[in-house]
Amino acid sequence: MTKAEKAEYNRQWRKDNPDQALSNLRHWRANNPDKVREHSWEHIDRRVEHIRERVIKYGKDHPEIMKKAAKKYRENHKDRVFILKESLKLLEEGKIIKTDCSCGEENTRMFHLDYIDPLNVIFLCKECFWARTKERNRAKKLMQIDAWHLIQTMTYSKNNK
Ligand SMILES: [Zn+2]
Repeated sequence: MTKAEKAEYNRQWRKDNPDQALSNLRHWRANNPDKVREHSWEHIDRRVEHIRERVIKYGKDHPEIMKKAAKKYRENHKDRVFILKESLKLLEEGKIIKTDCSCGEENTRMFHLDYIDPLNVIFLCKECFWARTKERNRAKKLMQIDAWHLIQTMTYSKNNK
């Protein structure tokens, strides 16, 4: 059997035995948490990158809708907006000092390490800003994956006792 034939055979088998296929998958996932994690990570990165590109493109073509979306974001994240404004005030007053990015780039913007303390900021260039944002989203998502994996494992062991 060639690789393609085998893949096709497996696909067909999964179609014919959906319950068994799902059970096998759960079993595999429960036994390979690291692979599940790594795979999810890559998957999320690709998705995020894809969505980001689309949003940027869409925003350029539809500035009015983007304006509305930004307004909605501000309404839904009032606490964040508050901290953001506080930080800007502190920057104006000289209580926060703008710095170069850690990579050496001079053109930087404020990055909030949390949205609790307006002083808890660093300055990052566009590239590093995005990298940090991605990292943060990743950590958040990984927490969800871990929780999900735990539930899967628990369900699996419960069903197999
Ligand atoms: Zn940088």
